[in-house]
Amino acid sequence: MIVTRFAPSPTGYLHIGGLRTAIFSYFWAKKNNGKFLLRIEDTDRSRHNEDAVGGILKAFEWVGIKSDEEIVYQSERTEIYKKYIDQLLETGRAYKCYMSKEELDQLREEQTARKERPKYDGRYRNFTGVPPIGIEPVIRIKSPESGNIIVKDLVKGDVVFSVEDNLDDFIIARADGMPTYNFVVAVDDAVMGVTDVIRGDDHLSNTPKQIVVYEALNFKLPNFYHVPMIHNSEGKKLSKRDGATDVLQYREYGYLPDALLNFLLRLGWSYGDKELFSREEMINLFDPSGINKSASIFSIEKLNWINGEKIKNLSRDEIANLLNINSSQIIDLVKDRCSTLKDLEREFLKIENRPENYDEASLKKHYRDDNKKLLNIFYKKIKDIDHDFISLADSFAKVLEDEKVGMAKLAQPLRIAIVGIAQSPSVVDLISILGRDEVISRIEIFFEKVK
Ligand code: GLU
Repeated sequence: MIVTRFAPSPTGYLHIGGLRTAIFSYFWAKKNNGKFLLRIEDTDRSRHNEDAVGGILKAFEWVGIKSDEEIVYQSERTEIYKKYIDQLLETGRAYKCYMSKEELDQLREEQTARKERPKYDGRYRNFTGVPPIGIEPVIRIKSPESGNIIVKDLVKGDVVFSVEDNLDDFIIARADGMPTYNFVVAVDDAVMGVTDVIRGDDHLSNTPKQIVVYEALNFKLPNFYHVPMIHNSEGKKLSKRDGATDVLQYREYGYLPDALLNFLLRLGWSYGDKELFSREEMINLFDPSGINKSASIFSIEKLNWINGEKIKNLSRDEIANLLNINSSQIIDLVKDRCSTLKDLEREFLKIENRPENYDEASLKKHYRDDNKKLLNIFYKKIKDIDHDFISLADSFAKVLEDEKVGMAKLAQPLRIAIVGIAQSPSVVDLISILGRDEVISRIEIFFEKVK
């Protein structure tokens, strides 16, 4: 069974980069009828932000994904970590180190002076003497002393870390007993049965340390997939300056969760040249071995396009529901031209609400004497005739025919009268949807306000 996880440190809101690795993990688990787990990495209390967990869960709820099991909080797992630390001490795979802070500082200084990489020199690795008094030891794990650690990454291929340059007997528990980051991540992933670790490649350099922990505890290694970062158009890591990075902001802006997921899924992964994926396709087609090796570029234009396409696929009722507006034909009239729900709402209201004022420039251009005359003729026609027999659209056509004028001459002033501006969807569609009474009222108000 495939078990994946998303393991955020709750230091803030859910970042879109985080959501991307979360959905990679989620889709991969779902595709394989496996499990997707959520683990909150909250051991570092000083960086812990209570609201952040709520923020992550809210974002998950919005996009429609959730953990298949109860959420795991690292802060509640001290006993588990302690058990494995004791086991490592018992099996001689870890040891107590009594180096004082002064000694450590001194060692670092000497190494720096020799232009060496500062690292622990293993002085307590085989210590059997009497421990110094007054020093609470840290626990260090025995790392290999030479050779390489190879991360068999399924995105990047084999990544070789030389022990010499990358590892030492690193601390797995501090003097106060608090276990350290790489230790708990490895223990948790193993104990939670995670088979596939999909995460940002900013964690790749942690992986050799985690492998040391796995091996010391005889845990089976998971598959690792390190996903390249998301960059902005200048090739730098995406930051707040490039736009919103908080997932929930995208809801505020009027993006559909399916559009955001589709966009993030495609950001760094592809399936031929397919761009649009339904939720089922996201699950059925995603495969982490198809994740790109290089960074992907964030493009809001692409997201807007995807969102526009997803909006087109929504029914009138679905849109009305999402926006809490009347389910009217106006929605159909505007929805194909909008890239966000916010645009759609704005366009909808422009038509649904009677105009409060009329665009001056448009009036100047499109409300001259001949236009006035035509609008009057049209108004009289629709007021007088029986509309069970002749539609507004036909009346419109009839006026053009009788008066022998082109469409724009009447369409433009009519638009201004009913929506306030000269740009709108087809005026014939507009009047048909608004209906005779409303069109008459709007023209009357217009005549009253604009002489
Ligand atoms: N807690 C880490 C983070 O938020 C992720 C750790 C992992 O995925 O292994 O960046």
